[in-house]
Amino acid sequence: MYFIQNIAEMQNLAQQWRNEGLGIGFVPTMGALHAGHVSLMERAKENERRVVSVFVNPRQFGANEDFSRYPRMLETDCALCEKQGVDAVFAPNAKELYAFADGVQIVAPKPMSSVLEGAARPGHFDGVLDVLARLFHIVQPHKAYFGRKDAQQLLIVRQMVAELFWGIEIVGCPIVRDFKGLALSSRNAYLSEQGYYQALQIARATKALEDAIAKGNRDAHSLLASTRAILAPLQVDYLMAVDYMLNEVEILQDNASLIVMAVIVENVRLLDNVWV
Ligand code: AMP
Repeated sequence: MYFIQNIAEMQNLAQQWRNEGLGIGFVPTMGALHAGHVSLMERAKENERRVVSVFVNPRQFGANEDFSRYPRMLETDCALCEKQGVDAVFAPNAKELYAFADGVQIVAPKPMSSVLEGAARPGHFDGVLDVLARLFHIVQPHKAYFGRKDAQQLLIVRQMVAELFWGIEIVGCPIVRDFKGLALSSRNAYLSEQGYYQALQIARATKALEDAIAKGNRDAHSLLASTRAILAPLQVDYLMAVDYMLNEVEILQDNASLIVMAVIVENVRLLDNVWV
């Protein structure tokens, strides 16, 4: 497995693969890899070559967020990628990736990026698109893999790629949960044991939602009301039924809408959602 930090080196390797006609699958991450990330790597096996990036992107963290305490474990991450048969881990450094302090910046579309996560984290999606645009140019993937757990991110990245006529297929992958049903996240490590048990209420809420939707309920008002009741003991930042442009909807449509939620437990933002 290649371990690459230098940008030109990664770009040359990707170009060489492209010249050889090999398909490149790309999994961008911030590291502290878990089974959720592994599921993306597995899905990316449909490409001849797989690249995983590990980069804790300063531009997507707000001033009072957890950038400095975000878990960093590059060696363990590399070992896991190697075990998965990944072809290259790309771990650029911020100085090279953002060589110009006042350089080019990408701005996410306002209607999609100022709501939900974007309302609580102003500028977050600008930072996400900024780093992904750079990484896409370096890694030159044919396909890039994103978890549905970060639903808003997935939909905004898809929008960027479509708007910029960028020939990358954005593949959304199912949410991976632990054995009690909590969606895996690198940030779960911040929870105390008690916090973890509180957070399981989110797993109960999403399970109940999935069951109700499977039974044919598409009425946002009633689905949200019963979810709100289950989440009542927790601090809910938002709970909404939306379409793929993140507009609120009253009736859920199959393959065109989802229910998104952000819940705060012990100051940790926990995201979950159910796609219809
Ligand atoms: P992160 O390292 O948190 O930036 O996540 C990197 C990628 O892994 C993103 O596309 C996430 O949506 C995805 N991901 C994180 N957690 C999960 C999960 N539990 N299930 C599926 N995908 C996930």
